[in-house]
Amino acid sequence: LPQPASSLREGNVIAQGFNEDLDKLRQFQDRSGNFLTELEQNERNTTKISNLKIEYNRVHGFFIEIPRSKADLIPDYYKRRQTLKNVERYITPELKEFEVKALSSRDSSINLEKEIYDKILKSLARYIKELKAITEGISELDGISSLARLALRPGYVRPRFSAETKIEISNGRHPVVENQVDTFISNSISINEERQVLLLTGPNMGGKSTYMRQTAVIVLLAHLGSYVPADSAIIGDIDQIFSRIGASDDLSGGQSTFMMEMTETARILDNSTNKSLILLDEIGRGTSTYDGLALATAIAAHIVTTNSSLTLFATHYFELTQLVNKYPQIKNIHVEAKKYKDNVVFLHTVNEGAISQSYGIEVAHLAGLPEKVLTAAKSHLRSLESNREHIPRQEDLFAEKKIIQGQKSGHALIKKLSKINPDELSPKKALLVLYDLIENLKN
Ligand code: ADP
Repeated sequence: LPQPASSLREGNVIAQGFNEDLDKLRQFQDRSGNFLTELEQNERNTTKISNLKIEYNRVHGFFIEIPRSKADLIPDYYKRRQTLKNVERYITPELKEFEVKALSSRDSSINLEKEIYDKILKSLARYIKELKAITEGISELDGISSLARLALRPGYVRPRFSAETKIEISNGRHPVVENQVDTFISNSISINEERQVLLLTGPNMGGKSTYMRQTAVIVLLAHLGSYVPADSAIIGDIDQIFSRIGASDDLSGGQSTFMMEMTETARILDNSTNKSLILLDEIGRGTSTYDGLALATAIAAHIVTTNSSLTLFATHYFELTQLVNKYPQIKNIHVEAKKYKDNVVFLHTVNEGAISQSYGIEVAHLAGLPEKVLTAAKSHLRSLESNREHIPRQEDLFAEKKIIQGQKSGHALIKKLSKINPDELSPKKALLVLYDLIENLKN
């Protein structure tokens, strides 16, 4: 079936045979190809320039192009149009005449198409109600038949619904990612009132966001009335799905990643209920380590104590996994990876418990970072790890006060200072005291 162009601008929207005038204009354009080939051949014969070409561009229209070195062979009816580094471009009266006709026939045919199109629209306008009903019907059929096709696929099951707030998926898959990889590893999830927040650790590229997304996609598909990619799925009473996942960070929008992250998280904390599903990916990564960890901890705790939403929380902060000791509703899970020589192998299986290894350097190795950089990073890592206990935390400004207080009794200068009452000093006296103090300091 001939496909019309999707935009009117370049024409080709109205079919052949619908309008005689349009067909004629198009015929001229079709024939123009022949005309140009013939003209090119003629000009080659006349000038004896074998690599003479006839070309077209939007700015200069049609022109004859020859190598600069052959410029003295041209006949006198050639008029120069443009000189480039290695070629000269010319126009002839015959080519000019053709150009005018060709361009105007193109313009006329596009204009004619627009006219015809408008007429068709006008004549259809009174059926607008029926047309809308038809398109809605077709799109509904399209949606439902797609879901039906999906249901027939191997590996798709009919989900069961539960009035409880929980999601129990056995061997779930991500319906898109599974088509992009050779072997997709299916994973189960059990999230409910006793296991309300799952803290997901594991290396980058380990499969954390895929696991979180597949959970949301399965819940969404089930609510649509679709079969789902899993061995079995029990989907509870979920009212909303919220996600804060990095992929769509819009830096061009003028908001920093961190600001965006926090704005979205604020919206989630404000709106999610004890029937909601929340996905949070690496919350806090947009700011310094301590800030980020502090925020992530507070956010996870707030979700458990206040929102009570079912939550998947992927994090790099191993410290966060300690939260399970304080809140029994928080559980640790992790994506499995194994180190093999300098590489890391992602197993993509999700298991209970936390994982402390982040395999950052190994992932960087996979990504092709230069060997020199990797070696340096490894040695930095070793020294960081051995110094972990001794890293001086940045002292705050108030710490100074403590030092002064600590030495108050000791230093003679401080003794002197502590005896001064500035309110009782005249400016002149104050200056003298200052001289005195500095003299003391020098001694
Ligand atoms: P992370 O969020 O931990 O950085 P992703 O979820 O983005 O990791 O996964 C990284 C890549 O690993 C995916 O693009 C996909 O190719 C592959 N992958 C993820 N999960 C699976 C899985 N269950 N089975 C097979 N491949 C997977």
